[in-house]
Amino acid sequence: MQTNVTELIKDNELKNIVIIGAGYGGLTAALRIERLLKKSVFFNVHLIDKNPFHTIKTQLHEAAVRKTEVSIPLYKILKNKKIQFHLGEVKIIDVENKTVQINDKLLPFLFLIIAIGSKVNYYNITGMADHSFPLQTLYDADKIYEHNSNVCAISASEKDENIRKENLRFVIGGGGLSGVEFAGELADHTSKCVSNFNIDKSNVEIIVIEAADRLVPFINENISEKIKNRLIQKGVKVLLGSKLIKRTEDEVFLSDNNIIKSKNFIWTGGIRISDLIKRGGLKTSTVGRLIVDEYLQSESNKHIYAIGDSANAVNPVTNKPVPAAAQFALQQGRLAAENIYAEIFGRPKNAYYPKVLGEVVSLGKHLAIGWLALPFFKKVTFVGFLGRLLKTAIREKHIFLLRKESRNWITY
Ligand SMILES: Cc1cc2nc3c(=O)[nH]c(=O)nc-3n(C[C@H](O)[C@H](O)[C@H](O)COP(=O)(O)OP(=O)(O)OC[C@H]3O[C@@H](n4cnc5c(N)ncnc54)[C@H](O)[C@@H]3O)c2cc1C
Repeated sequence: MQTNVTELIKDNELKNIVIIGAGYGGLTAALRIERLLKKSVFFNVHLIDKNPFHTIKTQLHEAAVRKTEVSIPLYKILKNKKIQFHLGEVKIIDVENKTVQINDKLLPFLFLIIAIGSKVNYYNITGMADHSFPLQTLYDADKIYEHNSNVCAISASEKDENIRKENLRFVIGGGGLSGVEFAGELADHTSKCVSNFNIDKSNVEIIVIEAADRLVPFINENISEKIKNRLIQKGVKVLLGSKLIKRTEDEVFLSDNNIIKSKNFIWTGGIRISDLIKRGGLKTSTVGRLIVDEYLQSESNKHIYAIGDSANAVNPVTNKPVPAAAQFALQQGRLAAENIYAEIFGRPKNAYYPKVLGEVVSLGKHLAIGWLALPFFKKVTFVGFLGRLLKTAIREKHIFLLRKESRNWITY
């Protein structure tokens, strides 16, 4: 589809560019398109989110354990921007009539960017949805924090050693990125729990259960091994090649017939995409991501783009979809905005090409492992406190770029 600005404004109406989701991808896209179209009076940018804040999702594990600040009110980011923010959950995308429904109003769009991120996936495992703590949203992190804060205090006064041990057994289902990052944080927290409440260290147990034969399967094998060793050094037990098949209020059932008793079960084992996209009749992948072409446009409707976790954006080199990660959501957000701008003004669009800038996995307050891409195809691996500084620098860079793009002084 090649359109141009005169064609678009011929009916003399203001045209809406609507973005669903103010996460990494959506917020970046909204700020970029607003800046590009600043001088045009014909376009309105609308941003919709079910929350009035932007969540720094990559640090949720820290909030779940240490109650650190991981959200930024959107009004601070959108101050003085020509972006209309709508608080609400989009329930319907009407592709034919080009509208989205938020609360009880219909918002027409000329271009739509879907950036709704991902949700927890329980894979229909019996009891999982009812008896586990997911870690996908700020509300999830708050719930885990409240729960775990009480565990140490309650256990300290428990006379029966078996019950005390069971109370202090934390099981993490899923040894992917969020699972291992959470386990690393939790190990630091429980050592504080031991010293603050005078609890015998041997009473505390943290177990990570992963179905694959290594932790964080998408990461380089060498780094994956380092992650495992560092977690073990922190006292975390790692069960690999172990599948969860059932969960009750206080038991975890494994495929090898093992049963682990625990009331503290955190599920980080998988993500899925909301069926909002599929319900709109758009073509999706098996996990519900919108199938997009090289420009990030829906294959079934060129007025619709998708970015971030909810897009099935393919790496042209590997021919595989890029993993769900913040760095790709940010890159895609910028590209979708630029391609919409190009389309409006009849200019050529750019194809998506993911840049892997590095991968850093934190394992507690003072430790992280990962690598960073340097110029001339060089890679540097970081382990330890240096890695941790790098992880903090990545978060700060995100805030810095938000400040730069929005031209607002943003604080938590
Ligand atoms: C604990 C944890 C640690 C992680 N660590 C890392 C890491 O170290 N590095 C990394 O690269 N990635 C990490 N990730 C993954 C990363 O956070 C995601 O890939 C990234 O957030 C995806 O960005 P997004 O813009 O697609 O979606 P999100 O950032 O999830 O934003 C989606 C937004 O859409 C809104 N929304 C959803 N549905 C609707 C609706 N129907 N109507 C209105 N609004 C809606 C949500 O409220 C949310 O604000 C981690 C994830 C978790 C959970």
